[in-house]
Amino acid sequence: MVSRTALIYSPDFSSFCYGKEHPFKIQRFRLAYELMEAYELTSLPCARIFDCIPAEEGDLLTFHSHSYLSKLKEFSLSDEPRADFRYGLGDIENPVFPGLYHWARLGAGGTIEAARLVTEGGFDIAFNLAGGWHHAHRSRASGFSYLNDSVLAINSLLQKGKRVVYLDIDAHHGDGVQEAFYETDQVLTISIHESGESFFPGTGSEKEIGSGKGKGYSVNVPLKEHTDDALFMKAFDEVAFPLIAAFDPDVMVTQLGADTFRTDPLTRLEITTHSYCYVVKKLKALKIPWVAVGGGGYENINVARAWTLAWAIMNGIELPPRLPARFIKLIDSLGYSNRMLLDAMHWAEDDDRNRALDAVEKSISAIKKKVFPIIIGAYD
Ligand SMILES: [Zn+2]
Repeated sequence: MVSRTALIYSPDFSSFCYGKEHPFKIQRFRLAYELMEAYELTSLPCARIFDCIPAEEGDLLTFHSHSYLSKLKEFSLSDEPRADFRYGLGDIENPVFPGLYHWARLGAGGTIEAARLVTEGGFDIAFNLAGGWHHAHRSRASGFSYLNDSVLAINSLLQKGKRVVYLDIDAHHGDGVQEAFYETDQVLTISIHESGESFFPGTGSEKEIGSGKGKGYSVNVPLKEHTDDALFMKAFDEVAFPLIAAFDPDVMVTQLGADTFRTDPLTRLEITTHSYCYVVKKLKALKIPWVAVGGGGYENINVARAWTLAWAIMNGIELPPRLPARFIKLIDSLGYSNRMLLDAMHWAEDDDRNRALDAVEKSISAIKKKVFPIIIGAYD
């Protein structure tokens, strides 16, 4: 059966800017949408495109503190440069820019709406490109994230009595989401990411498994630098897939960051479209109501390719490997030389690969020992 799908995107995004030197480029959303358009993926009969509607303050208060939201609001209106490091605001990482509060509420509103669409709107899958702000904490901006859209959307699902899996395949640990649900067994969070040993945000060891009632319901697969396609698929197949299947959630929320790609300037993993598509296809095959959100990715064409591929898979469409001529013309004018949509499967250099393999095997075996008996044992 064909899935009913929703894509959430706003052309208004281009009026915001983190600053010229900041690695996060808002242009990435437009490029992703342009690539989808060039493949005619924005006019599919089974799909609808929705604009982002800013989240209401009441929804934000299900996670964020009043004082933090007031500060965001105040700074957002200011013409002067502002900073308050207690709230993580105004440093190089989380700049204060005009309209910041509105910008953050657009992303959060999109993910809350995606959760509504898959529970009440008759959609099987809803994908909010401008979501995935997984580092935002209750009262602190972090890692370019101001409002934690996934936490807010999951809170709206919990209010409806739903059990949720949150899977995060961004290169960075999904720390803000893990923290929000660390003590509950109603949300299973799984994050596959580059090890925090010497990498932002520093958390996400396989030893972090949740506490109290939530013990076993936080799962982390830290990966060593140079982890390649085969090892990434191994981590997904041996940990995420069986746990999601066993927990059998009412709704699945997935953060689909594309900063795992080998050409990303901020990270050291060596993933390509090969394993990225493999994971997205397997998630689709689970046939669980699905909220997908964007996330990291600091090479704009990788982001456009990854999310276009994800959206095509959600709609059951196979795309040709070469980028459409119209998109090549557009990115040529912006200085990008990419020609291909798909990458060949990539293998890291032998020594790097052996170290990465050892590390992933250790993590997998620790998780199988500590977490599997709790999750798989509980739902068998
Ligand atoms: Zn990231």
